[in-house]
Amino acid sequence: MNKVRIVGAGLAGSEAALQFAEAGWKVDLFEMRPKVKTPAHQSGDFAELVCSNSLKSNLVTTASGLLKAEMKLLGCKLLPIAETCSVPSGNALAINREIFSKKVTKHILNHPNINFINEEFIDFDDELTILATGPLTSDNLIESLQDVVDNEHLYFFDAIAPIVSADSLNYDVIYRKTRYDKGEADYLNCPFSKEEYLRFAEALKNAEKPKPKEFENRFFKEIKFTYYENCTPIEELAQRGIETLRYGVMRPVGLENPNDSDRRPYAVIQLRAENLERTSYNLVGCQTMMKYGEQKEILRMIPGLGKADFLRYGSIHRNSYLNAPELLNADFSLKQKKNIYVAGQFSGVEGYVESIFSGLLVANLILGKITDLPEKTISKQLWKYLQINRKNFQPMNANFGLLPALSEKIKDKKLKKKKLAEISLEQLRMTKVKIKDSK
Ligand SMILES: Cc1cc2nc3c(=O)[nH]c(=O)nc-3n(C[C@H](O)[C@H](O)[C@H](O)COP(=O)(O)OP(=O)(O)OC[C@H]3O[C@@H](n4cnc5c(N)ncnc54)[C@H](O)[C@@H]3O)c2cc1C
Repeated sequence: MNKVRIVGAGLAGSEAALQFAEAGWKVDLFEMRPKVKTPAHQSGDFAELVCSNSLKSNLVTTASGLLKAEMKLLGCKLLPIAETCSVPSGNALAINREIFSKKVTKHILNHPNINFINEEFIDFDDELTILATGPLTSDNLIESLQDVVDNEHLYFFDAIAPIVSADSLNYDVIYRKTRYDKGEADYLNCPFSKEEYLRFAEALKNAEKPKPKEFENRFFKEIKFTYYENCTPIEELAQRGIETLRYGVMRPVGLENPNDSDRRPYAVIQLRAENLERTSYNLVGCQTMMKYGEQKEILRMIPGLGKADFLRYGSIHRNSYLNAPELLNADFSLKQKKNIYVAGQFSGVEGYVESIFSGLLVANLILGKITDLPEKTISKQLWKYLQINRKNFQPMNANFGLLPALSEKIKDKKLKKKKLAEISLEQLRMTKVKIKDSK
């Protein structure tokens, strides 16, 4: 009988374990809690939601809703359990997290094909193994992984910059240009006058600072491994001096504005495309840990972003993850050790639902049940995101910006998302039918 070892009974690991077990494979499932704790988990139960209790919207006109709909078509095991634990929250799938964890734990422990091993997994061997150890992967495992992967591509902290949707930007203000006109004009530039800059920097300086959790402090003081050099939040930079940003991330030199007699703005924020279709843009260097409400308010002060639609907000927290495009093959096995696969947030996805999806995907790739996914699904694009090399690779959550642009122009945002969702689900249903037909 086929056998697999799964390390971590979190969201990805639990989903993967059930996928294998129900396909008739024997599973050795390692989980270190409660013997060895993580800085955020509270219980020894499986699939614990460490922070919010929401699996986000159920509406397919939201990226998370669409991803969930796709996952159900792909035979997700955890979502149906989550639905039995839902609590009223409008269109969102919010759940009673304790009941959910207990149900998943019971389901797994009672499964005849799953052997639970309550130990911290540390040493690698040649057995087929899936690491689903999450953003709080134990230090011992990180250390032993350093012997296997190139240390440079093992990140410890991420500071995430917000992403805005391309169709919410004001192109009367924003202009396309690369610094000193070198190469393709790949960047969008948001030019600040002196007054606009000073107001913006002042607002950042006065932004309320969320208190980092104790464990985050612990790791910030004891940085052992590689982490982003440029992860200082912009609000922190603004506090160092009112002109600091203008000499750093907002440096305007070489970015003269062709729409304004080639005058150099006082400061510039650059936007970098997130995908080939340029449907979404990252605010370059604008990593931030401001509260979401404040982010929206302050970042909308950026010229051209007055009506910006935020596809992802910025954040900063401890988050171990691999530089997937550098270290992983397309099937999520390590390039340097092919019997080791990686799933969940440790592989470069971000979020509860995305982590469950990753467990589902990796298991089904190994099982041979999934060989490819339709191009216009969020699932496929999330998978693809983990394969494309980029400078400053950062974990990604589901968002509409990942999807290829529609062939027709639809101005109404809701209608556009509805159309994207229809295409995605239709493509996925067709593929499933094809798989069935070929059996
Ligand atoms: C503090 C924090 C808050 C977050 N809040 C949210 C949120 O509100 N919403 C959201 O969508 N996402 C959130 N995330 C991001 C992410 O979605 C979750 O961390 C999610 O649980 C990741 O799923 P996972 O399966 O990859 O990892 P996890 O669910 O964390 O599972 C990993 C499991 O591996 C175990 N493990 C680790 N090392 C070992 C080892 N060596 N041996 C054996 N077991 C091991 C851990 O104990 C854990 O049970 C948060 C992340 C963090 C760190």
